[in-house]
Amino acid sequence: MKRRKNKSLLAVFVISILIIAAVVVALHRKNEKNNPVPTDSYTPIPTGTEPAQSSAAPSTAAPEEPKPTDSLEIRTDYEDFLPNEAGEIPIIMFHRFIEAYEPNTDKEYTTTFEEFRALLQTLYDQGFRLISMQDFIDCNISVPAGTMPMVFTFDDGSSGQFNLIEEDGQYKANPKSAVGVMMEFHEKHPDFGLKGIFYINMDIGDNTFKGQGALKERFEFLENLGFELGSHTWGHVDYSEIHSKDKVLESLGKNQEKAEEILPGLRFYSLALPYGSRPSDESLRPILQKGNYNGMEYYHESIMAVGAAPSAPSISMNYDSLYVRRIRAQGRVAVDADLTWWLPKMTAERMFISDGDPQTIVVPLDKAENIDEQKLNGKKFISYDNKSAKE
Ligand SMILES: [Zn+2]
Repeated sequence: MKRRKNKSLLAVFVISILIIAAVVVALHRKNEKNNPVPTDSYTPIPTGTEPAQSSAAPSTAAPEEPKPTDSLEIRTDYEDFLPNEAGEIPIIMFHRFIEAYEPNTDKEYTTTFEEFRALLQTLYDQGFRLISMQDFIDCNISVPAGTMPMVFTFDDGSSGQFNLIEEDGQYKANPKSAVGVMMEFHEKHPDFGLKGIFYINMDIGDNTFKGQGALKERFEFLENLGFELGSHTWGHVDYSEIHSKDKVLESLGKNQEKAEEILPGLRFYSLALPYGSRPSDESLRPILQKGNYNGMEYYHESIMAVGAAPSAPSISMNYDSLYVRRIRAQGRVAVDADLTWWLPKMTAERMFISDGDPQTIVVPLDKAENIDEQKLNGKKFISYDNKSAKE
């Protein structure tokens, strides 16, 4: 009797241990999945906030493969929601952010925090979701099925884009900065994404993201949030005025060298051309991508232009990694070919509509010829008959 009681006690004990272990493993895996989303307030995407076109049908969960975030929603009923992963991806270019316009504020390159906040809501409501520059380069598109990937880029490292303030002995992003506004938006809409790349000029030293904290701490803070850093040259060089190979090498090698000096391991894999200009001597253009200056090697997987249209995705026949088009965010005044002008033109027919699965490239049959199969890099290429679907 006593032995039986001991036995059942042992059984209860063993079962309890197993349950606790299962819970611990589940929690751990959930944490892993949520990385690198940094905020405490991150919650998995509520399915009710999906844009209308993808909310109708139930999602088809893919087997096995661990997914990068809980928000990933994959669908394979292509005829119903018409994914097009040969479509264009808008890469938005931002410059300065301020609290309020002043009479002498430039017209096209500055926006207010309030307008930026409203823009985020508009983009979200229209079904855009942020991806990183690295995922754009690799065409690893992890936005929910039916939504459209978008890239945010910020040039010049101005303090309105990002700066640190000290609060209770700790650094935090100034809520009156683009990053602060994005963090606030991300708390309400975690599925929008908290992504973007900052193109910086190391020659301006401490003036990059001017504010509290050392330069190194500013860079680390951004990287910990999941943002990226790119090169904008040493000296904000206008390459249309450069005719010497050494000058080009110096402008890029020195920027890379200084970046690594400030934050060891920081490698720029993307370059934004100041003014969008390239050397008129075409033989100098390859060294914008790859070169060596005093033993410091640099390699830019993508090079950003300035204007003025959405970009082809990197797996497209039409993609040129050495001159990637961007769209300028609207400034104080709306002008042709800025983001406000483009928004109504970025229709489902021309844009990249994701199937939710970064491992597949899904395109309508009549767009299949746009995909460069050499660039698929192990991804599965699927084309479907969209014409018969519509009948
Ligand atoms: Zn610039």
